Amino acid sequence: MTDPRTYTAPANLLDGRIILITGASDGIGKAVALACAAHGATVILHGRNVKRLEGLYDAIVAAGGKRPSIMPLDFEKAGPPEYENVANAIDKEFGRLDGLVHNAGMLGERSPIEHHDIPKWLRTMHVNVNAPFILTQYCLPLLKKATDASVVFTSSGVVSRPRAYWGAYLPSKWASDGLMRMLADELENTAIRVNAVNPGAVKTNMRLQAYPAEDRSKLVEPAAIVTPYLYLLGPDGKSTKGATVDCQ
Ligand code: NDP
Repeated sequence: MTDPRTYTAPANLLDGRIILITGASDGIGKAVALACAAHGATVILHGRNVKRLEGLYDAIVAAGGKRPSIMPLDFEKAGPPEYENVANAIDKEFGRLDGLVHNAGMLGERSPIEHHDIPKWLRTMHVNVNAPFILTQYCLPLLKKATDASVVFTSSGVVSRPRAYWGAYLPSKWASDGLMRMLADELENTAIRVNAVNPGAVKTNMRLQAYPAEDRSKLVEPAAIVTPYLYLLGPDGKSTKGATVDCQ
């Protein structure tokens, strides 16, 4: 059986695939978007920071990748009509969706439950759980139009190792894991497969927020952990369903 961590992705692995990556403006999502484009996909880049998304667009085109699309949306503020607009725009431009990577996320507040700020808790749950649910619901008709579609959630080590002071982030990642498994089961007999990737410790802004005092020289760069995403998004990951794949 292939180990997604040591998988060698062929250069044309994702040729002809349309893949939406949330949180592509920075960190892991940016690295996944670059890797998908380098392997032939047309990527739809989601995030809030339009300047960074435009910079990524330019980098992909300069590297010879297919011209991406940019999809700015603030998951804290967006309601169903904004998600519907996104789905309609994808439908109009591409007519289907072959891959959906749920990667955008926020750390929120790391504090004891006793003192956790309630509005911050709700915002974290909204961005990390409600947003992927709503986006998935609006994208399902597009995923159903693909012959081999893959949905990938970004999990976390807090799911297998729950511990104190992670605030809303920890239950949000558990809920995201539950959503992934439930969706995988609901879509078991369709051409849409659903999985998750657990990145491990990666040198990003979110990691810096979570561990401000750690030695960052020991952390891996986002580009070093993209292979399992490629494996799950491409045809070789077709038989993997409802799984969480560790990157490290
Ligand atoms: P970053 O902080 O580098 O990137 C987070 C991304 O999420 C950005 O693109 C950001 O967009 C987007 N985002 C945040 N809030 C919103 C919002 N309200 N609306 C829309 N987009 C938003 O973090 P990472 O790359 O580290 O994290 C990516 C994923 O990996 C997360 O789901 C995280 O939980 C997970 N993860 C990370 C680990 C790590 O060690 N780094 C370990 C385990 C899991 P913008 O910048 O445009 O606002």
